[in-house]
Amino acid sequence: MDMGYRELSFNLPSDYQEGDLRDAIAKELGIGEFSYQIGNKSLDARKKANIHWQVRVSVLSDELGGGEPIAAAVLDVPSRTRDERAVVVGSGPAGFFAALVLQKAGFRTTLIERGTEVRKRARGVMSFEETGIFDPVSNYAFGEGGAGTFSDGKLTSRSKHISREKRFIIESYIQAGAPEEIRYLAHPHLGSDNLKTIVANLRSEFLDIGGTVLFETLLEDIKVEGGRVVETVTASGGIEADYCIIAPGHSAYETYRMLIRRGVGFRTKPFALGSRVEHPQELINLAQWGREELPGVKAAEYRLTSRGDGTLPVYTFCMCPGGVVVPASAYAHINIVNGMSRYRRDGIFANAACVAAVSPEGLTGRETSALDALDWLEALEEQFFRYAEGFAAPFCTIRNFIEGKGNSAISASSYPLGLKPAPLWELLPPTVSDALREGLKDFSRKVKGFETGNIMGLESKTSSPIQVVRDKTGLCTGFENLYVVGEGSGWAGGIISSGADGIQAAVHIAS
Ligand SMILES: Cc1cc2nc3c(=O)[nH]c(=O)nc-3n(C[C@H](O)[C@H](O)[C@H](O)COP(=O)(O)OP(=O)(O)OC[C@H]3O[C@@H](n4cnc5c(N)ncnc54)[C@H](O)[C@@H]3O)c2cc1C
Repeated sequence: MDMGYRELSFNLPSDYQEGDLRDAIAKELGIGEFSYQIGNKSLDARKKANIHWQVRVSVLSDELGGGEPIAAAVLDVPSRTRDERAVVVGSGPAGFFAALVLQKAGFRTTLIERGTEVRKRARGVMSFEETGIFDPVSNYAFGEGGAGTFSDGKLTSRSKHISREKRFIIESYIQAGAPEEIRYLAHPHLGSDNLKTIVANLRSEFLDIGGTVLFETLLEDIKVEGGRVVETVTASGGIEADYCIIAPGHSAYETYRMLIRRGVGFRTKPFALGSRVEHPQELINLAQWGREELPGVKAAEYRLTSRGDGTLPVYTFCMCPGGVVVPASAYAHINIVNGMSRYRRDGIFANAACVAAVSPEGLTGRETSALDALDWLEALEEQFFRYAEGFAAPFCTIRNFIEGKGNSAISASSYPLGLKPAPLWELLPPTVSDALREGLKDFSRKVKGFETGNIMGLESKTSSPIQVVRDKTGLCTGFENLYVVGEGSGWAGGIISSGADGIQAAVHIAS
């Protein structure tokens, strides 16, 4: 007999077990033998008295008549024997997935990465947090897996038209050890602990199919002849390339400057600037759920937006439930922060970036080139370093920030390199502080107790202030074989959209 197919949705308690879902399906359809797959699972916390999971399932059973599942679109990698070399720079999601697709398509692919392999990188990061001594090749920005390796590993993305690429990334992560739930959770995340293993397993897959990886290898220059990159230049020599994909993230100032020097066009674009807020996770749980714990759910999240002061919108970004605030500097002379969490999200703090949407021109007050925007941002990051005399995070309470006065006493924080009391509102550009102040007032009305938290450091890497001039395939204008992709291109942001951007360039080359 033919299998029949149905799609169903259920509202289930926060701590439901697999058996409860099976029972609900059997009861709804009146069947005994069936298999099912969860298509989507999201927490509905709009009513505190009735927080539940919304679960959509597809059910297959020969006790059902008719219906057919819709086949999901898969990534088509044109694979054949080729004698062409591809060089990919940067092993973050954009560079890594581009390299993997190129190697699968039959190119001889070399992936070069300025930082260390992930285990050595983890030791470098740990040592930085213990000693405060910065390591230029093993830090939160640079090293295997890119900026996202030490992160919450949130896999949400608002980009449209990347479903094939997203599926490829998700399935690659699962094959490399990620939990299967990332296929269907509305807010999937990997956790920094899982990411280290996943990144190493993905590298093994790339090596197994013949790819080459060179760690601690900085792309210093590119040789360009007649609109073609013919060689990528590193300290240990040149690597010839028929195709070159550069995915450096948006921390690598000298790489940006080198590309601009070599004629790659960049323009400025809107980005975001602000600081990171931190609260006890219990306070967020209470505000969002009306209770300190909710069985079956790790930790409460929030996502807040505000009109700010009417000139610059303010929003929270990259919220890390049960996470830690980390020193995310890519260089020894700058001081910036970011956030990450482990898979269990079981830390006692919650943090999130709280940023204002800005433009380089609005900040400098004049016409601004891409180089000017980079110089301006680097100077601000350096100013935070000078104020802190190192990597402590300048901080104050949210209440003091709102009032624009007061000395904040140091309180408990997850930040590993210490807090330094500061009039944070004076360290940020005045337009940003004005907007944040109003945004923080709004958030304190929306989340009970929000104003009692801390606000710290500089968040300058939520998005890039510059964007490469390229066509829709990622090919740089004026070049025949150079692609600048991922977050550093200014066309993507976050793990999924950056990975998808790299994949699209690779598929374009392979096609
Ligand atoms: C602490 C933290 C937490 C984050 N949390 C999340 C999250 O939960 N979810 C999410 O979606 N995003 C998160 N992000 C953002 C996310 O990590 C980035 O959007 C994503 O990694 C961008 O991918 P990419 O490949 O474009 O660049 P990157 O990941 O930045 O990778 C670029 C790589 O290029 C290398 N490189 C740079 N220049 C050179 C050169 N000249 N030569 C050789 N190699 C070079 C760098 O070392 C780096 O490894 C987080 C970022 C940080 C820092």
